[in-house]
Amino acid sequence: MKEFELIKHFFTEQVVKRKDVLLGIGDDCAVVSSTKNQDTVITTDTLVAGVHFPVETSPRAIGHKAVAVNLSDIAAMGAKPSWLSLAITLPEVNNDWLTEFSLGVFELCEFYNVQLIGGDTTQGPLSITITAQGLTPEGKYLSRSGAKAGDWLFVTGELGDAALALQHYKGKVSIHSDFVEKIQTKLDFPRPRVLVGQSLREYASSAIDLSDGLLADLGHICKASNVGANIVLNEIPLSESMLETLSFDDAVSLALSGGDDYELLFTVSADNKVGMETALSHIGIPITCIGQINASQTITTTLNNKPVPIKETGFEHFSTK
Ligand code: ADP
Ligand code: MG
Repeated sequence: MKEFELIKHFFTEQVVKRKDVLLGIGDDCAVVSSTKNQDTVITTDTLVAGVHFPVETSPRAIGHKAVAVNLSDIAAMGAKPSWLSLAITLPEVNNDWLTEFSLGVFELCEFYNVQLIGGDTTQGPLSITITAQGLTPEGKYLSRSGAKAGDWLFVTGELGDAALALQHYKGKVSIHSDFVEKIQTKLDFPRPRVLVGQSLREYASSAIDLSDGLLADLGHICKASNVGANIVLNEIPLSESMLETLSFDDAVSLALSGGDDYELLFTVSADNKVGMETALSHIGIPITCIGQINASQTITTTLNNKPVPIKETGFEHFSTK
């Protein structure tokens, strides 16, 4: 199959046909109409086989995850995703692989009405680069830099499952069979918190998506906002899989340091807290207050109201990268 036929066969046919796409796949560039009173947010993420996912990962999961990690960035900006470009490097043309991969790409696109508008196809070691774009009302995007001392720190979902799945894959922990599929799904098919992100636009002072681990990503908010934070370790939301597999200390350590959660971490002022909780209660994604922003410029943790030095959280047990 030639490049042109491959693109036509696997990527041109799609359910989503947006009105704002004037020219989609097939020309030298895609053309989208710009919308009055809206800002466009743009992000790119690359997944390299053997680096960002194990080489044995199913093609459907690879397609899903490549889109999900980008939509997660769009969600963190409080934007509504709209268009994607897909640059794919393939070692060979394998029809079964491409069929499954494109299913993975298009499932989230259909759910969120996102159209694939172009890309590039080359031969080489497997690697996928997606650029996603989204829209927000003018000036209303969220960023990492608005957190203020006194703001509450919230997180969506539960933390650490994806990192636990990776530890399991590497043979570093044994997991009860009841939990294996659940955590593998969290690693392979992350769900970007797109609707939460859009609802937070009116309430949050800052937001980031959790790709590198809670401590690292909270560090990005603190640095960008010129603030510090305390995390109450007892409050970190942990799944049954985590609590049944690891000691509490190890579960907390993995939740602090492990990556690939793709949950949203955000800050909200005391004044906006109730409004935010009410708005989010309609979405059905659990949120948990895990701490507070302060003026200290450092990140601290407490357990049962006592300070715990971060290096003693057992973080060294795990090499999550
Ligand atoms: P050019 O050489 O002008 O860059 P290409 O032959 O690379 O054009 O691509 C032809 C068309 O197919 C372009 O519209 C491009 O955006 C699109 N395209 C190429 N690869 C992909 C892909 N993997 N997914 C979606 N669209 C693609
Ligand atoms: Mg090209």
